[in-house]
Amino acid sequence: MTRPLLTDRTAVITGAAQGIGYAIAELFVAEGARVVIGDLDAGLAAVAAEKLGGPGVAIGVGCDVSKSADVDGMLAAAVDTFGTLDVVVNNAGITRDATMRTMTEDQFDQVIAVHLKGTWNGVRKAAAIMREAKSGAIVNLSSISGKVGMAGQTNYSAAKAGIVGMTKAAAKEMAHHGVRVNAIQPGLIRTAMTEAMPQKVWEEKVAGIPMQRVGDPSEIASVALFLASDLSSYMTGTVLEVTGGRFM
Ligand code: NAD
Repeated sequence: MTRPLLTDRTAVITGAAQGIGYAIAELFVAEGARVVIGDLDAGLAAVAAEKLGGPGVAIGVGCDVSKSADVDGMLAAAVDTFGTLDVVVNNAGITRDATMRTMTEDQFDQVIAVHLKGTWNGVRKAAAIMREAKSGAIVNLSSISGKVGMAGQTNYSAAKAGIVGMTKAAAKEMAHHGVRVNAIQPGLIRTAMTEAMPQKVWEEKVAGIPMQRVGDPSEIASVALFLASDLSSYMTGTVLEVTGGRFM
């Protein structure tokens, strides 16, 4: 039998109370990791941690990733509880879709704060801890919207494209410290974020997917596992598209 891929490693996953983040946490636990569920919703984070096995395996921590002190607290909880910090997945996200004509400045700022600043907080705070251990893997959730740009998402597309540049810059800074930084660009994945979409828009989007179906959160989780584990030991600064072929 092969050894699980994340045995004895500690992984922090932001925005993991539900959706893609929860699927990542679930798979990481199945692969032997201890996980910290960081989420804006502390109550849901605690419930998710309990579902994953509770104390000894998973803890939930309330954290707003756009606040650097919260990110410090979440990472400290990982080290204090489990002893190491081996993997950080910067997954927390929101949408505030609107055309430029109607988007408010606040809607723009909120999306930039959570995705761009939140990921920057996660990357640099994790990197500061991991460089001491001379090992670690950071996985950032970008989006295919950051590759092609989506109408109604000037805020989100800008933030998700920014995460690509940030991932590459951080990968260059951290490579010689033994810390890898990579990103994933999911296409259309079935979660609360996308199920809010009107049925007509949903159908139009699915029609443009070569594989002719939406993705499941578990199909992002398996790629996150690859980037978090030694299976990708010679990869850093990469961006993997997980889209069923959409916008290839
Ligand atoms: P989701 O809405 O189901 O879950 C997002 C989670 O993030 C929630 O639990 C929420 O409480 C948490 N969160 C929001 N703001 C936060 C903050 N400031 N600090 C900490 N936690 C916060 O979304 P999802 O579909 O699972 O998306 C996860 C990630 O994947 C996001 O970064 C999203 O942009 C990206 N993504 C999703 C899709 C998709 O089709 N679902 C496609 C491309 C990229």
